[in-house]
Amino acid sequence: MFKALVVEKAESGDTHASVQNLEDSRLPEGNVTVAVEYSTLNYKDGLCLTSGGGLVRNYPHVPGIDFAGTVEASEDPRYREGDKVVLTGWRVGEVHWGGYATRARVNADWLVPLPEGLTTRQAMSVGTAGFTAMLAIMSLEDHGLAPGNGEVLVTGAGGGVGSVAVSVLSRLGHQVAAVTGRPALEPYLRDLGAHRIVPREELAETVKRPLEAETWAGCIDSVGGPMLARVLGQMQYGGSVASVGLAGGANLPATVIPFLLRGVNLLGIDSVMRPYADRVRAWTRIARDLPVEKLEAMVQPATLSDLPDLGAAILKGQVQGRVLVDVN
Ligand code: NDP
Repeated sequence: MFKALVVEKAESGDTHASVQNLEDSRLPEGNVTVAVEYSTLNYKDGLCLTSGGGLVRNYPHVPGIDFAGTVEASEDPRYREGDKVVLTGWRVGEVHWGGYATRARVNADWLVPLPEGLTTRQAMSVGTAGFTAMLAIMSLEDHGLAPGNGEVLVTGAGGGVGSVAVSVLSRLGHQVAAVTGRPALEPYLRDLGAHRIVPREELAETVKRPLEAETWAGCIDSVGGPMLARVLGQMQYGGSVASVGLAGGANLPATVIPFLLRGVNLLGIDSVMRPYADRVRAWTRIARDLPVEKLEAMVQPATLSDLPDLGAAILKGQVQGRVLVDVN
């Protein structure tokens, strides 16, 4: 038997989540079985815990787009019983049962070994959000961002992607400007390493002029929508924006002028289908560049039964930092 948070859908279309004990025979197909220790809460989990957001295909469903734990059984030569592993992406927790359970069965191709220097708890304190923040930083670096180039803007800074981005960028020696809609988060963001707080309202208006003062050397954007459009017009010559999320909307009411006159780059960041080599590179960088003491400050512990409420909260932008789920 294993314990799982199961989301069921009624004929009315309403969903309901509850913690249940399930037989092992209910586990989905896969060649590696993992004793899950920790999972997390990401924006997508908020959708899968509530309406499904078009991500979940079949009910009953076990959400949880990421987890870390210990291999219990493996039919794949790359993993053996006792190995510590991490999983993010590959639509686990969306179309495949995920990490909100004490046991998960997955495809070995989706796993990476737990990076040296991190515990399973720390890996899930980082989770998909932090992993994606690191992919964004690596992409900005690949396009020339280096400490000393100028201020790096992080939008949605109080959230999971934003919090990890702020602390890693600051540790790497960048000057970080953090955009938040929650003024009360200023001390938290400054502790993570932000040197400037930008109130969300300052970037909320839609583009009036396609080019504004050249302000940012780089940007990690979790928000999208009109805010991303504004930021594009404020980038320094040749600067890059890593587009990670859509917390503020999926539309992009922008002009192409920043690309044509300032050589600005808009870099797409996908964490879900990332090839294995990139994943290992990103986790190795996380183990090296994320200050562990800052990570602790970001973490809000939770259990499986807390998740339905927390799922609704993250969709309203009310979660601070990272929610760490002890599934046991
Ligand atoms: P969080 O909810 O933790 O963070 C999002 C933050 O955005 C909020 O905390 C809030 O920060 C800000 N925000 C929320 N609503 C608005 C709004 N209407 N306008 C402006 N700012 C807003 O989510 P995550 O950090 O987990 O994820 C962030 C985004 O990245 C999501 O859209 C998610 O789907 C996406 N994502 C994409 C991935 C990929 O592979 N590309 C992987 C992981 C996440 P504050 O209160 O400080 O302003």
